Amino acid sequence: MSVPVRVRIAPSPTGDPHVGTAYIGLLNYCFARHHGGKFVLRIEDTDQQRCSEASAQAIYASLKWLGLVYDEGPDVGGERGPYVQSERVKLGMYQRYAEQLIEQGDAYYCFCTARELDAMKARQRANNEPIMYDRRHRGADLAESRARVAKGEPYVIRLKVPLEGEHVYKDRLRKLPVAKGWKEIDDQVLLKSDGWPTYHLAAVVDDHLMGITHVIRAEEWLNSLPKHTLLNQKLGFTPPEYVHVGLLRNADKSKISKRKNPTNLLWYREQGFLPEALVNFLATLGHSHPDGREKFTLDELVSVFDLDRINVAGPVFDLVKLKNLQGQYFRELSPERMRAEVHRAVDARFDKLLPLVKERMVVGGDFIWQAEPFYADSVTHHVEDLVPKGWDKVQTKTMLEQLQQALKQFAAGEGSQWDAPSLEALIRGLMESRSQVPEGATDEARAAAQLWQNKPVFMALRVAATGKRESPPLFDTLAVLGSTKTLERLGLAQQKLR
Ligand code: GLU
Repeated sequence: MSVPVRVRIAPSPTGDPHVGTAYIGLLNYCFARHHGGKFVLRIEDTDQQRCSEASAQAIYASLKWLGLVYDEGPDVGGERGPYVQSERVKLGMYQRYAEQLIEQGDAYYCFCTARELDAMKARQRANNEPIMYDRRHRGADLAESRARVAKGEPYVIRLKVPLEGEHVYKDRLRKLPVAKGWKEIDDQVLLKSDGWPTYHLAAVVDDHLMGITHVIRAEEWLNSLPKHTLLNQKLGFTPPEYVHVGLLRNADKSKISKRKNPTNLLWYREQGFLPEALVNFLATLGHSHPDGREKFTLDELVSVFDLDRINVAGPVFDLVKLKNLQGQYFRELSPERMRAEVHRAVDARFDKLLPLVKERMVVGGDFIWQAEPFYADSVTHHVEDLVPKGWDKVQTKTMLEQLQQALKQFAAGEGSQWDAPSLEALIRGLMESRSQVPEGATDEARAAAQLWQNKPVFMALRVAATGKRESPPLFDTLAVLGSTKTLERLGLAQQKLR
């Protein structure tokens, strides 16, 4: 009898829950359900500095919203728990595997300090050599190394990667085997100096302990596969089958990023996207329907799901297509559900908006007009409102371009908070630096700098973001509007000024 299927997704809880997690989750979910197996959620938070509990909670909530119900996981339990790696670290679940490798001679203690490693890198850079650990502690006598450890010297444990030959893997989704020379692969750190495992050790150990039969993950992990194969082999584990699927991409084929697409699952929920539409859309990106249909339910996909049909070509995430599909789903809703959806969409922003717009309201119904720019998909810009007095179209366009650029960078930055105080600090900082006139500046540069000293910057930004010359306080407005809409509208305003 064949082993029952057990698959997992293993997101790291850094930042907002990502659409890529939903995509990989969907493929794993369908594979598990199709084969009557189990779908497991594991939280990989060994990089404690970047991970947060709030982010893990948002992952649970968004998977549930999408209907990607996991059978085992941090908040639902299961027999192979705990399902959060930091909890497993505390139970000492990884250390002994690192010790086993040391004992076998397949790993070694490395005592390099950060300074030594930096010097090594600098030298390699200067000599135009590949940047990698030079294996200086690899040949050390084990008894001597153990004595250093016993004396309390800080160390890491590194994997002994073969010095020659290559790792060849035939992924079932790829026509040709993928080969990588062992020479190019670093002696990977397995256990860090604080005793915590790195991703590689923790993932391989957990996939084994959790009985994972298939690791279906994004192709960006293909590079890590040689190390995972080696670890499985040296630890005596039967490896899962590793299957690497195409990454979601922006229209320009780069890996999907929040610079070019909304990637936060919570954003889709807040915007009123229906989970079944988003799931259907993600499904069409990853797995075509054998009948050529574009619209199907999660259960329908489960019934026809075939691992070998997964798309590896790097599907393009096209928001316009998603909106199309979403529209079809929306218009087919029952009157009750449609009503509930409309209420939900209004309510989702109502509490934030009312305090913002109430100053301009006389009767309850005024809310509709006052809040309209916040709900609207887009706004109409009038050139005469956009261009501040005394400026011309080109100056305004340049200014908006620069504002958009700064806001875009800010939005894409890890851990940035799109809130009123941060936005105000950002814009004021930008105005301050741009309005400096360097010594010996040309008249043109002087005039350009002059513009940044002016209040009209605020006006141009306000009109670009809302389409109106009057709005609630500017930075609160941008905060509630959100980064996606703000940036989109700044782009549209520039088009008007061409
Ligand atoms: N923690 C990794 C991630 O954040 C998981 C990679 C894997 O599936 O092995 O995507």
